[in-house]
Amino acid sequence: MISIVAFDADDTLWHNNLYFNRAQDSFLSMMENFAKPTVVKQILLDCERRNIARYGFGIKGFTLSMIEAAIEISASNAGTGDIHRIIKLGQDLLDHPVRLLPDVEPVISSVSRSYNTILITKGDLLDQERKIQLSGLSKYFRQIEIVSVKTADVYRQIFTRSGSDPASCVMVGNSLRFDIVPALKIGAWSIHIPYEFGWELEHDDLPSDSAKYRQIERFLQLPDQIAEIRELVTTEAVGCDGRGALE
Ligand SMILES: [Mg+2]
Repeated sequence: MISIVAFDADDTLWHNNLYFNRAQDSFLSMMENFAKPTVVKQILLDCERRNIARYGFGIKGFTLSMIEAAIEISASNAGTGDIHRIIKLGQDLLDHPVRLLPDVEPVISSVSRSYNTILITKGDLLDQERKIQLSGLSKYFRQIEIVSVKTADVYRQIFTRSGSDPASCVMVGNSLRFDIVPALKIGAWSIHIPYEFGWELEHDDLPSDSAKYRQIERFLQLPDQIAEIRELVTTEAVGCDGRGALE
């Protein structure tokens, strides 16, 4: 009765924002002659927020935002040496290793044996492809979608293109804004696994009607949570036509 279990990738299956935070810390140190770290951090975040619509999500956009923020913070006094160091921070980010989060591989392997699994991730195309390949997880997904934004419409298109009613789909991810809330909006189930090094722009408020929202702390709890949802979906289907569970 559950047709699809879909997974976010960054910070759900493997560490990602951890590396952005490290690059950001280096940037704050670079800029300490111009402004306090809290000020630098806020200006950088404002730049990122403004630029998402132009550059999309990912390391290249983040690098351009650091350059723009450096120019603003230094009142155009940042030199080519500073710009070069920022570009190097971005290039180092593009080479960061892929470290799976605890228990991800055995759980994904197990879930993929019982359900149709889809990976839905956003960001720079080349970088997302690199991480997927290095993760060794692509063999567990029936379908991999790399998208530029993760909105309710995007989730609806992916689920319906796969021949599924969103009400029978489960989205698993770390981001309320990009994984959980848009999936809930189209009537899918959502399992939230918060990531300890989260990004401010991924936060959101849950919709008031969040009956299909679940939160777990560890990936290892996922199979039980999916089983509980399957039970609920099956019970609802039986309630509707009196024979759904036998189909
Ligand atoms: Mg994520």
